[in-house]
Order: sequence, then C-alpha cells, then structure tokens
Amino acid sequence: MAKPVLSALGEMKLELGSGKEKAFGTWRLRRDDDGIAWAILDCKGGGANTLSQAVLTDLSKLLDAVEGDLPKLLVLRSAKPGGFAAGADITEFREARDEASVAERLRAGHGVIDRLEALGCPTVAVIHGYALGGGFELALACDHRIAVKGAFFGFPEVRLGLHPGLGGTFRLSELIDPTEAMTMMLTGKSAHTKKARDLGIVDTVVEERHVRAAVAALVGKGEDAKGRGLKAALFDIGPARKLAAGRMRSQTESKAPQEHYPAPHALIDLWESHGGDRDAMQAGEIKSFARLLTSDTAQNLIRAFFLREGLKKNGAGKSDIERVHVVGAGTMGAEIAAICAIKGLRVTISDVKLEPLAKAVKAAARIAREAHLSDIEIRDALDRLMPDPKGYGLVTADLIIEAAPEKPELKRELLTSIEASARADAIIATNTSSLELEGLASVIKKAGRFAGLHFFNPVSKLDLVEVVSHDKATKKTLSRLNAFVTAIDHLPAPVRSYPGFLVNRVLTPYLLEAALMVDEGIDPVQIDRAAEAFGMPMGPLEVADQVGLDICLQVADSLRENLDTSIPDVPEWMRKRVEDGHLGAKSGEGIYVWEDGKPKKGKPADHPLPKDAQDRLILPMLNAAVECLRKDVVGDADTLDAAMIFATGFAPFRGGPIRYARQRGVAEVVSALEELASRHGPRFAPDKGWKDIG
Ligand code: NAD
Repeated sequence: MAKPVLSALGEMKLELGSGKEKAFGTWRLRRDDDGIAWAILDCKGGGANTLSQAVLTDLSKLLDAVEGDLPKLLVLRSAKPGGFAAGADITEFREARDEASVAERLRAGHGVIDRLEALGCPTVAVIHGYALGGGFELALACDHRIAVKGAFFGFPEVRLGLHPGLGGTFRLSELIDPTEAMTMMLTGKSAHTKKARDLGIVDTVVEERHVRAAVAALVGKGEDAKGRGLKAALFDIGPARKLAAGRMRSQTESKAPQEHYPAPHALIDLWESHGGDRDAMQAGEIKSFARLLTSDTAQNLIRAFFLREGLKKNGAGKSDIERVHVVGAGTMGAEIAAICAIKGLRVTISDVKLEPLAKAVKAAARIAREAHLSDIEIRDALDRLMPDPKGYGLVTADLIIEAAPEKPELKRELLTSIEASARADAIIATNTSSLELEGLASVIKKAGRFAGLHFFNPVSKLDLVEVVSHDKATKKTLSRLNAFVTAIDHLPAPVRSYPGFLVNRVLTPYLLEAALMVDEGIDPVQIDRAAEAFGMPMGPLEVADQVGLDICLQVADSLRENLDTSIPDVPEWMRKRVEDGHLGAKSGEGIYVWEDGKPKKGKPADHPLPKDAQDRLILPMLNAAVECLRKDVVGDADTLDAAMIFATGFAPFRGGPIRYARQRGVAEVVSALEELASRHGPRFAPDKGWKDIG
C-alpha cells in the first residue's frame, strides 16, 4: 500500500503525559505527578485536528479548569499521529457573507487564545508534523515551542485569499524578525524544522523519545522565552516599517496583483499602519480578515479547496496497486516513476536507451529533496525505483504505464507487447495526450483493463491526472486507477476519451488564439500580459513555449482533424518555428528566447492592445468547456472547473471557467462570443450547450 511521505511519525508512539484524565470535548486534560498538565487535542474522526469553533469553545472550558488549579507547566499537544493541527475548519468559512457576524466569531476566538497566552503558569506547545494556520497561531500563544524533528510551520491562509486571523499577524511578527514573519504570511510557504529553529519560531528541536525530558526541563523556567526581539523593536519605528512595507508591496504586486489577490496587500497595509501596536494590530486583523473572507475572491478560492477535496474523493478507498512498471523514461515517464516510488510503490522503468534511465534516477532524487524527504526517506524511495532496461518488471506489475513518444503506430506495437507479458489482472494505462483511446484499445485483447492516465508536465508540481475512459474500459479498471492516483497524492479527474480529452480540449483554443494574434502583428508580450491581467498564472505564449511548440502543434492538429467544431489552422509562422527546431523552453528558443528556465520577454510594445484581446483569449476556453459538458466528456461543472484550475492554473480566484461564466453572466458571455464571431470568424460561435448552463 502506498505510504505517505511522513508516515514514519505515524508509527511512533507519541508522548502524551500520564495521570488522571478529564475530557473537554475535543480536548483531554491529564495531570501527572510532576505537576505538569497535558492538554491533548484530539478532534473526533478524520486524521487531522482543525481549529473549529468547537475546539476553541472546548479549550475555553479546559482553561477554566486549569486556571482553577494551576499546574507548574501546561503542555499543548496533539494526539493525532500526522501532526499538531492544520488550520481553521474551512467548512465554517464556506459561503460566509456577513462581515459583522464573522468579526464577532473571530473576537470570541481571540478571547480564548488571549486567555491561553495570559495563563498564570508557563505554557509549551509540543509540535510534531504540521502546525498550520490556526494550529500555528495556537502554538504561538504559548510561552515555549518544542518541535519534534520533521515538524513544520506555516500560514497557508493566503492561498485561500486570507491572512492569519487568530492573532498570527502580530504574534509571529513579535516573535521573529518581522520581515521574515511577513514573508511567511505573504507567501504561505512553510518553515521546516531547521528553518523554524533558525528563525526563532521554536526553542528546541528533539526526537519524539526525548519530548518528556525536554518538557520537564522547562518546569520552573517561567516565561523567559517571551519578549520581543531587537528586530521587532526596530520596526516599531514608523518610517522603517513604511520602507519595508513599500518593498514588500512591489514584490507582492508582481506575483499577486492586488486587483486579484487583495489578502497579501491587506496584510501589508495592516502591518504598515499598526506594526508594533498589538491592540491596533489585533483589531485591524479581525476587521480585515472578516472583509476578506466575505469577498468573492476568498469564497472562490475556498471553493477551489473543496473542489480539490472532491477530486480526491473520486479515488476514495484503498488502492491495490503496489508494483508499477513505466515504459519510456523521458520527460513524463521519469517523473511518473519518481512520484510513485516516493509515495511508497515499487517501481520499475524501462526505455530503449540507457541514458534516460540514469536521468530518471537523478530526477527522482531531486524531486524527493524538493519534497523535504529525509536522507533515509530519499534512500528508501530510490531503493524502490529500479531502472529495468530489459523490462523484467512488466511481468509482475499491477499497473503498467506507457509513456513512450506520441506516435500511434509505436504505441500500438508497445501496447500489444505489453499485454503479451503483463499479468492477466494488471491494468495497462497510456499517458497519451492526444490520441483517442478507442484506436489504441483496439489492439488490446482484454480492452476492459486498458485506460488513459493523462499526467501533466511537470508531474511533481501539477497534481491533476485525467483518468480517461473509453467504451470498453471496465468500471473496476477505472476505480482502481482513481484510487491509485489518490494514493500517489494526485487528483483524479474522470473524463471520457475525446479529442484532447478535457484539459487540452479546453486549453488549446486559448493557445491557438494567442498564436493567431501574433500572426496579426500583436506583440507577444502584450498578449501574455492580457491573459495574466485576467488572472492566468502565465500567458498563453509562455505556456506554449513551456509545453513545447511541437507538442502544441500535434495537439492542435489532432483537434482540428477530429472535432466537428471550428478549430482554426495553426499559423504558418508556428509550423516554421517547429520545422527549424525552435520548440520552446526545451530547445532554448521558441516564441521567446529562454535562459535559465525563463523566457526573455523585454518591454511590451506601447501601442494599445485591441479592446477585445482578453475576451478573445479567455472566452474560447469557456466555449470549449461548455462543449465538453454537452458531450459528457466530464460528469459535471465542478469537476471541469477543478480540472482546469489544478492542471492549468485557470485563475483560481475566479473559480474555474464555468463558475466564471456564471458570475459574469451566461447571457453576457454568449453575446460577447457572438460579437467576437461576427468580428473574427465562426470559431467564436457560441456552443449549443450554453442554454443548459444555469
Ligand atoms: P519523451 O520523448 O521525453 O520520452 C519518451 C521516452 O520514450 C524516451 O526516453 C524514449 O527513449 C523512450 N522510448 C522510445 N521508444 C520506446 C520504446 N519502444 N520502448 C520504451 N521506451 C521508448 O516524451 P514525453 O514528453 O515524456 O511524452 C511521453 C508521452 O507522454 C507521450 O505520449 C506524450 O504525448 C505524453 N505527455 C507528454 C507531456 C509533456 O508535456 N511532455 C504531457 C502529458 C503527456
């Protein structure tokens, strides 16, 4: 069975104190003979503690009991093997639209955390695994923090269009260098154990077996860890803060423009205006959080969070895939194999050449390091990944993933020979991105066990995987594949075989339209800017260069050949680039020249872009999305929105193509498409399915 990366902690017995126990709902209080009280958080059900309203109310009752009979030291700890506490309970944020009532709830929560901070005895949070968002804020209200090796801390709120809302904005910037604190809150990046110690977030790092001794050593030490650092005091001076805030603002604007992502900007404003003044920060934090939470941006980002959970549920249940064989160790095969091995599966990988196999092992080591695996975990992952030039692993694999070049004849030959060697109950999957599955399935004798597993590049960064069905694929095969995708911590999106499947069918018109605009003489940098201004993480021409112009061409041609809708021909200049070997990032030049993995864009031209440029890029995606719903390529609009957000980064704060269409107004979108069609041609003609989009 696949093991999560941090499973080692799960197998360790946690030190949770001893002595008589009293329950306070989600908390338990144990008082041991040394006068140490252990407050243990153990939310019912689920694998993680979240800071729900109930957790705070229960904590308040526990504090009543502690205040009535003060221990020498109060320890806060989680009973969950995975970690201390994830953030707030996001279900409570959903559809929150009333600012005043949100602020009232927040004030009540702050009241409880403030009481913990003001308790008449020293307090310590012992953290293993994650302490995120509200969980981190709880730990920050304690006098001391002990981290068990592997612990990590972070404020991911910014990804939900929020900033910390339970005292984190002022407690973290009082505890550590405020600019570091702001960076953590603005980027949402976690600080892993060593970094957390270097920054001063934790006092001590210990192994789990030394927790008790570390706690005992704090008895009688009082609250000496409290107090504000020198750096914090420096930023009490308004002009120093103003200067730093100005820098943060411009850095933030380039990554998360205020128009689309107001949260980090609100946080900078808050700190600039009130940094160093705790009361004002607290009042400001509550007000600003309530305003952000009730905005469309946060609500769409929260929806994206639940869409992710929804995709995971497609693969609910235990995966029975333990051995994977990957055929083809190129860009895709290498990363697919690496991810499977890192997630605990036994993997063999074959290729016609040896060089890609060596590269695949290197790629696995790199990905494992980037995932913060320990040296032992990296060694174990690499032990599970076996270069297998002769393809011996094929015979024993539960799942074989074909990731050879996109050539139909080659794939058909390979699939035939794979089936000849594979176990009778093994699943055979292809990572093809443009070939219809029916054509490939025709060479497989037991076609029920064959399906598509369409990963996106880079597999280690893009979580979505289209699980592609065809007429003959059995339900069992599809549900085993969905469970496999979830087990390797990716997101399965069930789709039906269709030209481009779902994601490429929707994305290609966007890339093509950009190419046509270049053909009309519009500046590429300006075209990319127009899409970025809408909220796409990257402009279409940069995406095309990254994906590879050859691959874009292949997909576009295949859509044009196989769809009955109007797909424009790829402009001649793009075919010429491909012929000349200018394929994009991988060849160093495509539409842009690439250096160190980045396109050299230069200044955009200063003549104005045509007014309809943004709609020309975005609306064809919406139109194709509606076609996919009409043709049942995907089961529902939520899965569609989710797939586009997690595979392409489609402006998540807009909630995905269909949500955006609904928020802008379906009638308005249809009439904008009609207008574009009259100006630029039938490729913009509204799809017949719009009438069914409510
Ligand atoms: P690639 O060219 O980087 O790698 C293909 C590998 O297959 C090469 O190492 C090659 O030596 C090997 N190979 C060739 N013939 C073989 C054979 N008979 N047996 C075993 N190995 C053989 O290609 P890629 O970009 O990794 O694409 C692989 C598949 O994934 C294609 O179907 C492609 O459409 C799909 N895909 C690619 C991307 C992408 O962005 N690159 C994204 C999604 C899906």
